[in-house]
Amino acid sequence: MDKDTHIELERRRETLDEVEQSAAVSLRPHSFDDYPGQKQVCDNLRVYIEAARMRGRMLDHTLLHGPPGLGKTTLAGIIAREMRGTLRMTSGPVLDKAANLMGVLAGLEEGTVLFIDEIHRMPAHVEEILYKAMEDQRLDILVGQGPAARTVEMELPPFTLIGATTRAGALSRPLRERFGIIEHLRYYDPEDLCKIVVRSADLLGVRLEDSAALELARRSRGTPRIANHILRRVIDHATVEGIFPVTLRTVEHALERRGIDGAGLDHKDRELMTIIARRYDGGPVGLEAVAAAMNEERSTLEDVYEPYLIYRGFLSRTPRGRMLTPEGYAHLGG
Ligand code: ADP
Repeated sequence: MDKDTHIELERRRETLDEVEQSAAVSLRPHSFDDYPGQKQVCDNLRVYIEAARMRGRMLDHTLLHGPPGLGKTTLAGIIAREMRGTLRMTSGPVLDKAANLMGVLAGLEEGTVLFIDEIHRMPAHVEEILYKAMEDQRLDILVGQGPAARTVEMELPPFTLIGATTRAGALSRPLRERFGIIEHLRYYDPEDLCKIVVRSADLLGVRLEDSAALELARRSRGTPRIANHILRRVIDHATVEGIFPVTLRTVEHALERRGIDGAGLDHKDRELMTIIARRYDGGPVGLEAVAAAMNEERSTLEDVYEPYLIYRGFLSRTPRGRMLTPEGYAHLGG
């Protein structure tokens, strides 16, 4: 991911997480029972965690991949709790120098769950330090300077590394191969997202009519972070209108005001589809050209916009480029 995409992802994440943090109530689930959806991933993890605990060992290093906002960080917290370990969090962009990663590793305590978000963004020379730490639980530390410098090998306590990435393909093969567990998080279906919305509303002390909760879930891009974000704005509207439980009408009104259409797409999604339809006759067209027309980075399109459009069947990725599907045309209105 390049710098601009990173900034874009961070921006989305910051504005959305700010809202979450600024509120008195945290909506982040702390156990598998509070974490609807991702059933297969959760079922697998429960088994692996139980087996590790029965053996008295740490959970194998785990890679979680999938689009932003689907619950990778949340899962890392749940895993740490289940393993009764301390969670330490950092991210690929922060670990831009070898010394930063070495400092983190040297500070590990037995049973720590080390979460590295955007793990694919570590430079290669930093990543290489991880190989030995993951495989042999060892760390080479350079002591002294100049000709007197020498390497001292340090043994690390047992720990679990949880790496998160929006794109598993961006991970180098040697790093990927060092993860014993690799799980892919998928977009949530409306039913699971609806459970998340109802749970969040409950934590916020608000009730939604069933049809209102389902509509909000249907139009949240299959993404809990977005659902929670929209929910708070919907509650704002309901508060001003003085109508509780929240009605379908209020949800529709709030979504309309935000430019979110019936399929949960925003104006950027529609712009992307419109460019392919109008300028490139539906494609195939290279993502680079679409990115230039939208004044966006290619990787922003790849990480933020495109995956959901493909998931919904509005866009397809072919060897010759991106194409708008008949469903995509239908959505744009013919
Ligand atoms: P990621 O690390 O994949 O970007 P996060 O774990 O930060 O996503 O999740 C974003 C927000 O969405 C969290 O603050 C959390 O409240 C909420 N969330 C994510 N997954 C779930 C889930 N399965 N159930 C309830 N809330 C969830």
